[in-house]
Amino acid sequence: MTDNNFIEFKNVGKVYPNGTVGLENINFSIPKGQFLVVVGLSGSGKSTLMRTINRMHDVSSGDVLIDGKSIIHYKGKDLRNLRREIGMIFQNFNLVKRSSVQRNVLSGRVGYYSTWRSALGLFSAADKQKTVEALQRVGLGEKLYSRADQLSGGQQQRVAIARAFMQDPKIVLADEPIASLDPLTTDSVMNDLKSLNDDFGITVIVNLHSVPLAQKYADRIIGLRDGKLVYDKMSADVTETDLDDIYQPGYGEGKIERMTTTAPIEGVVS
Ligand code: ADP
Repeated sequence: MTDNNFIEFKNVGKVYPNGTVGLENINFSIPKGQFLVVVGLSGSGKSTLMRTINRMHDVSSGDVLIDGKSIIHYKGKDLRNLRREIGMIFQNFNLVKRSSVQRNVLSGRVGYYSTWRSALGLFSAADKQKTVEALQRVGLGEKLYSRADQLSGGQQQRVAIARAFMQDPKIVLADEPIASLDPLTTDSVMNDLKSLNDDFGITVIVNLHSVPLAQKYADRIIGLRDGKLVYDKMSADVTETDLDDIYQPGYGEGKIERMTTTAPIEGVVS
């Protein structure tokens, strides 16, 4: 592998047990250190694609390689090590709401401890110090001892980013991280993700609905529709009419005519 194909999808297909096709013949590579945004309508396969990378979902066909190694059959220690190196940010934050911010952020380190040590909360002084630094990075240094559910949605998402940072991840996956947030908070969360990418060279993959937001932060934008990769461009090359290709069901398949008017670029498609 080279830095240009740090993560590789080779003919990846995913069919859910009920027969729904989640992904179809996906082929592409993600260079190390890229900030990639995946756009597409609800149900287009964004979450499925993302979750094949940390094996929250298994693929049905094809192969996923990270750092040149196929990960699709990983078990036991290999799988634990894979997941330790991949931080995951969810739309609903996935914090333990009744626990302190410190405890939530420290939980990003559990992959580095034996089960009994993490169950007893026996984290090292160095990791406790790292928690403070992680929270300072996202502007929440003073919230260390607050309970997670006393924070706003945006703050909770930034705690989740601090938790992911604690993993020393090579990859951060963020699945609709701003879908529950207001526009101001959206920018702070996207900036926190961007700084993980800029400051540490972490490869960041974000699922978003909004193309303007994707253009603002991404190095590269890919688009999914009906489980297929229908779009792949560097952010700077994205044009307004490109939106048709991503967001018009059936475009290019002869089902509908291409729109002659400009698609609503501001549109946040749900
Ligand atoms: P997105 O993240 O773009 O909204 P998803 O990856 O969640 O899309 O879904 C892709 C397709 O797979 C959709 O048709 C969805 O209904 C289906 N799907 C997702 N999860 C499951 C599941 N656990 N079982 C069956 N079908 C699923």
